[in-house]
Amino acid sequence: MSALMLNKSYFIETFKKIADMVEKNRDHLSKLDSDIGDGDHGINLTIGFREVEKQLPLLSDSTADIAELMKKVGMILLSKVGGASGPLYGSFFMKMANNTTGKQAVTFKEFCQMYQDGVEAVQMRGKAELNDKTMIDALIPGLKVLNNYKEGDDPIKTLEICVDEMKKGSDLTIPLVAKKGRSMRLGERAIGHRDAGSESAWMIMNEFLQQLKLEK
Ligand SMILES: [Mg+2]
Repeated sequence: MSALMLNKSYFIETFKKIADMVEKNRDHLSKLDSDIGDGDHGINLTIGFREVEKQLPLLSDSTADIAELMKKVGMILLSKVGGASGPLYGSFFMKMANNTTGKQAVTFKEFCQMYQDGVEAVQMRGKAELNDKTMIDALIPGLKVLNNYKEGDDPIKTLEICVDEMKKGSDLTIPLVAKKGRSMRLGERAIGHRDAGSESAWMIMNEFLQQLKLEK
């Protein structure tokens, strides 16, 4: 297990999977957003990840390390994706680069650090707290799991639990009143609806998990 290394192509293959997933779930994600927002979440993510996918062959060759790949993907999302999700997911991937400069591959422990750096960036930019009915409600439960990872633990099992906890966190947004974003204006009418960003957050991390299962 400790020999597991995630190289640049792991991340590239994961981004391809995310692009497919977003395409397949475009209407689902937009529907969630239309219940309590402006209904563009699925469309926005599709636009962003289509562009990421288009540029992946070039990024695969032209990026020097994992840091550069993550920064470039984040920048594409920042520039192409509208709404709140562009800046948030853009920052998430850009800051995943923080501790990967010069690295061609990372250990799973380092991957956990990348996730933490990404989540901290989302928190800084979005200023959301737990229970504000945002993607943070999925990201934080996942972070707690990855922070507990120790050498010798099974990375796949750890990421499975992480995604599971993120899903549960997303479920917990359903009864909440929103404290951020457009749905904030709805007050109690937001109750009974899932936050779209919390849904896409666990779905994105699930693609990291699916690709990890192929790396063994
Ligand atoms: Mg929206």
